[in-house]
Amino acid sequence: MANPFSLEGKVALVTGANTGIGQGIAIALAAAGADIAAAGRSEPTETQAAVEGMGRKFLSIKADFSSIEPVQRVVDETVAAFGKVDILVNNAGIIRRADSIEFSEADWDAVMDTNLKVVFFLTQAFAKQALKQGFEGGQAKVINIASLLSFQGGIRVPSYTASKSGLAGLTKILANEWATKGINVNAIAPGYFDTNNTEALRADQDRNAAILARIPAGRWGRPEDIGGAAVFLASSASDYVQGITLPVDGGWLAR
Ligand code: NAP
Repeated sequence: MANPFSLEGKVALVTGANTGIGQGIAIALAAAGADIAAAGRSEPTETQAAVEGMGRKFLSIKADFSSIEPVQRVVDETVAAFGKVDILVNNAGIIRRADSIEFSEADWDAVMDTNLKVVFFLTQAFAKQALKQGFEGGQAKVINIASLLSFQGGIRVPSYTASKSGLAGLTKILANEWATKGINVNAIAPGYFDTNNTEALRADQDRNAAILARIPAGRWGRPEDIGGAAVFLASSASDYVQGITLPVDGGWLAR
């Protein structure tokens, strides 16, 4: 029987793959056999070296996801280079921290635009391409990077919580509409991972200790901890999995 987790011959478009969780996912997908198109602002030099080091092809696409302006071009450039695109990982995201009582409109809009609006329209452009190219090689896969704040409220991050809770809902509606069309839409909710996104939390001794005390695994997540879930949701092993937000959180939500 063929390995259901193999991504041989697949093309994955990953946003924000230069660092952190996106880098961990791009490297895991490449290790499972996929070629990688990485779209974002910063040059993904390290990720490129790791992917090419495994004998996979790598394309870097410059794109600023603070607006939907680049979404069609990003899909088109991927298809121009690889002839198709099979997997989309919506990873690029931002967070702004301030008390809700004084949270600014600018911090609301920036987070909602990058974390939710751009994700919707990039996914729409990807899905149109997937429908156009057909599914002879297998189902197309969308993986949204959600958060524990897709389930919980959090504190001092109102636009982030709204965007990630919205993303869990978006994951479900798109799964409902596209499950019969050959496109799986699912999400991963990382717990507390050691990346730029959580630098402020780790720098605060009290918050750091409180977070660690609640994680059953007893440590912060590392970017490589997320790869297995991404490979599963990108592969034919998950063909009958639709609309879920899968926590990868060291047990945080079980507590
Ligand atoms: P990170 O190291 O800050 O990475 C964020 C990525 O998003 C970077 O590649 C960044 O690119 C990209 N990005 C942000 N704004 C962009 C824009 N306007 N245009 C293009 N790219 C942009 O943080 P991370 O933890 O790996 O975050 C990745 C995802 O995981 C995010 O969606 C985040 O919300 C989610 N997440 C993280 C945690 C955690 O504990 N770390 C937990 C739950 C969910 P630049 O380098 O160019 O800024």
